[in-house]
Amino acid sequence: MRDTLKHQGLRNRLVEVLIAKGIKDKEVLKAIKKIPRHLFMDSSFEDFAYQDKAFPIAANQTISQPYTVAFQTELLQLNKGSKVLEIGTGSGYQTAVLLELGVKVYSIERQQELFKKTKSFLEKRNYRPKQLIFGDGYIGLKEQAPFDGVIVTAGAPFVPNPLLSQLKIGGRLVIPVGDKTQIMTLFIRKSEKEFEKHEFGDFKFVPMLQKKN
Ligand code: SAH
Repeated sequence: MRDTLKHQGLRNRLVEVLIAKGIKDKEVLKAIKKIPRHLFMDSSFEDFAYQDKAFPIAANQTISQPYTVAFQTELLQLNKGSKVLEIGTGSGYQTAVLLELGVKVYSIERQQELFKKTKSFLEKRNYRPKQLIFGDGYIGLKEQAPFDGVIVTAGAPFVPNPLLSQLKIGGRLVIPVGDKTQIMTLFIRKSEKEFEKHEFGDFKFVPMLQKKN
């Protein structure tokens, strides 16, 4: 598959939709305008890639809805050079959005099939995360902590403690919390022991599962 003018036109329309839904961060919108989302999906979904919807990828997982990707990324409030941990590499689309912002990305995926597929896809497309890890996001990535931001892209039944403790002071964890549906939740680390919590309405994710597979 190639990236054509038609795809670019559809991306411009998608960005208009995201603005209408309340996304304001110029850098995030610019990233979405630039990244060929259709290449992160199965070719049979090519015609739908710029609808604001989630779609199936390998291993029974989904590529998140563009609005959700934009919303979570906006909540992280990142700068160039920020260090970010992503839980749930999936298709790599969210990873690419983070990279486009100029941040250093570490991303963990628990499904081996997806991990391998996405690793080689990102390499081929010249997206360069600092590290892609086949592992369990519940334990975070202690070796590379602390992080400016941690983003969880699967529905977490509870907030894993390591993800809070691996934040810098001032760092942000964005995590959808809940079983059937999830409440988008932001934690800001105020000090060694204090975290501020904010909630942002309902979203729907595939579940965050324990251990790798
Ligand atoms: N960010 C992805 C979203 C993929 S869906 C994208 O933009 O495409 C969520 C992903 O989280 C799935 O690939 C799933 O396998 C993964 N996942 C679920 N539980 C996990 C865990 N404990 N650790 C790491 N990845 C996990």
